[in-house]
Amino acid sequence: MLVDTHCHLDFSEFDADRNEVIRRAEDAGINYFVNIGATLDSSSAACELASKYAQVYSSVGVHPHDADSFNQEAEDRLRGLALKDKVVAIGETGLDYYRNLSSQGKQLHAFGRQIKLAKDLKLPLVIHSRQADEQVVQVLKTAMPVKAVIHCFSGDEAFLRACLDLGFLISFTCNITYKKAQGLRDMVKLTPLDRLMLETDAPYLSPEGFRGKRNEPMHIKLLAETVSLIKGASVEEIADKTTRNAKGFFKIG
Ligand SMILES: [Zn+2]
Repeated sequence: MLVDTHCHLDFSEFDADRNEVIRRAEDAGINYFVNIGATLDSSSAACELASKYAQVYSSVGVHPHDADSFNQEAEDRLRGLALKDKVVAIGETGLDYYRNLSSQGKQLHAFGRQIKLAKDLKLPLVIHSRQADEQVVQVLKTAMPVKAVIHCFSGDEAFLRACLDLGFLISFTCNITYKKAQGLRDMVKLTPLDRLMLETDAPYLSPEGFRGKRNEPMHIKLLAETVSLIKGASVEEIADKTTRNAKGFFKIG
């Protein structure tokens, strides 16, 4: 049994064959999917998917790219969505100082408000951090206690250790399979198995051998195989432990 803890099945890339994508993943042993909201509209679509498919859960949030649109009205709407059935987390939220598609001030505001929402509703946070690792740690540290996963971990050892010290989970995507990603594989090695989760971030980040193509949740299996090689543990053990982590973190299954 495997869980894709971060995918975007609501995106238009899946409009033509969503049912088949989910079925293919189930055939590959993926039993649960957490569909992550990136905007208010996609959060709403995530909730719809969760109501349609028994094995799909949703997270609702506004990505740092869209933080400029995070006003009071947006916050109220997000809170309403967060109360829906099968919403298991708030996010993705965080900071992206690489692309800076929204101003840093607005990103910090939207991040702070979503942390508060998560705490109010006792939900975990799904964190996006890009070239903002120190600031993300600082914000979350100030907000403790919070329960969080660092999605698509791409930081250095200092960031990893800071996140582990705060009790967070670390989620890796198929980018750890890339030839040049030895640095990331080193971070997988340093992450204890009881703190590690697997995600595709589909339709993004297809694994080595499929690059340039749309990613889909069935590739969690390849990811589990890569982690098993790095950790020197069986694929079954990786599947068992990461599934247990995901079920505990999101309270699913
Ligand atoms: Zn994502």
